[in-house]
Amino acid sequence: MAEETIFSKIIRREIATELLYQDELVTAFRDIHPRAPTHILIVPNVLIPTVNDVEPQHEAALGRMFTVARKLAADAGISEKGYRLIMNCNSHGGQEVYHIHMHLVGGQPLGPMLAR
Ligand code: 5GP
Repeated sequence: MAEETIFSKIIRREIATELLYQDELVTAFRDIHPRAPTHILIVPNVLIPTVNDVEPQHEAALGRMFTVARKLAADAGISEKGYRLIMNCNSHGGQEVYHIHMHLVGGQPLGPMLAR
């Protein structure tokens, strides 16, 4: 069994965090250290530590992450100008929390995709 992270406690509402969205598959909340005016994390309710651990049975939750990203981007008023969806994997990807999550960032020009 993979070790739980703080995100499991947020999903189970054991830690006071404003949830922007929750259903049977995914949960979304604001990043505690926002890197842009809009910075939301969209998380599958099931613990999947990294993208390397993704299996076919996770496809419904992973697909839901995109439809929720679309909705939350619209709610934040950033759909037309655009935004970025980011998923980091392991150390070279800069992953800090080992419960996969999609970053939805926007609200300002985000610059080049990678630092040069
Ligand atoms: P990663 O680097 O793993 O892709 O991103 C993890 C993100 O989770 C970071 O942007 C970090 O600020 C955020 N984060 C870490 N702990 C917490 C927390 O307890 N609450 C919230 N809302 N965000 C967190």
